[in-house]
Amino acid sequence: MRIGIIGTGVAGSLLAEGLEGFDITAFERVGPGDQAEAGTGLNIGPNALKALRLHMPLRHAALRAASLPWERWFVDLTNGTRLLDLDMRDVAEEPGVRIRWSELYRLLRAPVADCTRNGHALEALEEDAAGRLVPVFSTDQGLVRHGGFDLLVGADGRYSRLRALAAGEPPTTLLGVCIWRLLVTDAADCPYDDYGQWFNGNARLLSFRVPGGAVYIAGTFPLPADGQVPEAMKTAAAQRALFTPPNGAPCAAVAWMLGQIDRHVAQIHWARSAIVPVRRHALDGRALFLGDAAQAMVPTLGQGATQAVECGVVAAKVLRAGGDAAAVAAARDARVEFVRQFSMEASDTLIPPNDVVAGTRKKAEAPFLDRLRQLYIEVD
Ligand SMILES: Cc1cc2nc3c(=O)[nH]c(=O)nc-3n(C[C@H](O)[C@H](O)[C@H](O)COP(=O)(O)OP(=O)(O)OC[C@H]3O[C@@H](n4cnc5c(N)ncnc54)[C@H](O)[C@@H]3O)c2cc1C
Repeated sequence: MRIGIIGTGVAGSLLAEGLEGFDITAFERVGPGDQAEAGTGLNIGPNALKALRLHMPLRHAALRAASLPWERWFVDLTNGTRLLDLDMRDVAEEPGVRIRWSELYRLLRAPVADCTRNGHALEALEEDAAGRLVPVFSTDQGLVRHGGFDLLVGADGRYSRLRALAAGEPPTTLLGVCIWRLLVTDAADCPYDDYGQWFNGNARLLSFRVPGGAVYIAGTFPLPADGQVPEAMKTAAAQRALFTPPNGAPCAAVAWMLGQIDRHVAQIHWARSAIVPVRRHALDGRALFLGDAAQAMVPTLGQGATQAVECGVVAAKVLRAGGDAAAVAAARDARVEFVRQFSMEASDTLIPPNDVVAGTRKKAEAPFLDRLRQLYIEVD
């Protein structure tokens, strides 16, 4: 069986590595060693680490070595009042990780460099006489074809071209919140380390250290009814007003972040939180979708890349055993629905008029913690 993988991000790289020995070609839009399109920093959940530990122990070790452990999760108000303090080992078998995006892509792409054709952006889809899918790529040399594939895997992310070509452009549902991110690379004076969240009303800062002396900061705030991010909010003064507590005195961590926003506001990447419906395969199972291409979800529980890891690992296991796209759907879709639903429900405190204090305190109670255990541990 000849398998083509579109995109060597998280899911595509892991799938290609897990199918070593099979007739695999991966196609990636960016050049070799080019991690410039990667985002800033991210936290990857303990469930991804468990999937790697069970099925790809070398990649588990490489990820641990290139990252910091995510051992704690605390939630404060921006005046420093503590609402939640969770030890990840109480809900998981091992900590998650904190890592830079560029480093994650580097360590996932390196093992599959030999089977990857870089500088290939999927453009169109054709069929050969045997009914196999023939992807058409845009390259420096113009449009290029590499023959027919029995299975084409769309691991090309949130705006998957393969999904659009094979199943139509998916509808997008906006959550109604802006999410921005910033990587501060000279952060020696940062007064905190592990994963924290700080709320002022429904506006939230999220931050943690990543390797190399850097700190990742993400901000979230509710959007007006038209769903657009107002230009007036994209200034340091507006963000300072958004996160300054009513008594006017931010805690040391928030004061530090506000200083970084002042210095680096021009480098902030602004986006809107959105989901698309799950679609696992199309064209009678000849096109399979993994990661964001199949299941883009709200980032509230940090499960986007985490689920892309699970997707790559599980799809490799199923295909190695002779399974097809429907078998991958059977192995993934119920789990993905649970994670999407849970991520959406956990977003309550980001959306007005929900009460942040009551909503966060509920996350320290058994029903939420039990589901967190299910999320982090029920991986096979
Ligand atoms: C603000 C924000 C914060 C986030 N924080 C977290 C977090 O903390 N933890 C977490 O787990 N997730 C987080 N996510 C989600 C995470 O970014 C995604 O879920 C994850 O990257 C999906 O992995 P993937 O393998 O599906 O796709 P990607 O990692 O996006 O990889 C797609 C690959 O396909 C390539 N490609 C795209 N189009 C084409 C084409 N036409 N032809 C060829 N190649 C193509 C791209 O270059 C890329 O290499 C966050 C997302 C956002 C927006």
